[in-house]
Amino acid sequence: MADVLARALACGGTVRALAAVTTGLVEEARGRHGTAPTATAALGRALTGALLLAATIKRDERLSLEFSGDGPLRGVLADATPDGDARGFVLRPATHLPPRRGKLDVGGALGHGLLCVMRVPLAAGSLYRSVVPLASGEIGADLASYLLVSEQTRAAVGVGVFVDTDGRVAAAGGYLVQALPGASDDALDAVAARVERVATPSELVRDGLGPVDMLQALVGGDLSVLEERQVRFRCRCSRERVAAAILAMGRTEIESVLETDRQAQVTCEFCAARYVVEESELRGLLSAASS
Ligand SMILES: [Zn+2]
Repeated sequence: MADVLARALACGGTVRALAAVTTGLVEEARGRHGTAPTATAALGRALTGALLLAATIKRDERLSLEFSGDGPLRGVLADATPDGDARGFVLRPATHLPPRRGKLDVGGALGHGLLCVMRVPLAAGSLYRSVVPLASGEIGADLASYLLVSEQTRAAVGVGVFVDTDGRVAAAGGYLVQALPGASDDALDAVAARVERVATPSELVRDGLGPVDMLQALVGGDLSVLEERQVRFRCRCSRERVAAAILAMGRTEIESVLETDRQAQVTCEFCAARYVVEESELRGLLSAASS
């Protein structure tokens, strides 16, 4: 099944409902970063959450989530665009803990800490930044808590990753159900009760449900689907950006790299792509660099 995100409205347009299947892109992230199962679950949940939240913002922004905690994983970064590109990494990819209540212990891996949510304009404009304490470190509950505290909206967020015995991602996905202005408490309570009863997102995806099926299971028949779109792991790094970063180091640094290694090796932390900048290119950058 392809990775797809669906956007819909429910309860006469007063409830926003989104769901996504992200198995392929989370498996790609695992392969790129070589994450152990608990780290894979944390990264996959964060990537899925970033995609869901990014689908609610303006087209000319991207959304960035930064979870930091005192647990062994230390942190997870994920960012996504409204067009469905997501990328991310964890600080300690080898993190794996014994399962808790039959599930990968993402909360234990992150520990206590903070969630920083940023909306970054793609061109000119001002940056929005909000920091809230982690609710549980389980990612979904942390995102719901952020929406309640920072945006004063009731929301249910479920994100899940099922890692197979061979370490690969067998299923990943998530949902976001959020009250919009005008939503009645009764309607929200009914939706919340229904969301409570439904299986976890990774179970729904394992059962073969697509995003629209997931939304139907979550909010019922009164659903108007606005859009379904593909989502993917895609990074914004490039040789040009690497060259610009080297240029920004300044003459002295570039000279020192030329003297010692003769080439610069740069690994993108978001996607693990490796760039090698050869001596001739470094000399070109040196002549363009300021002192
Ligand atoms: Zn990259």
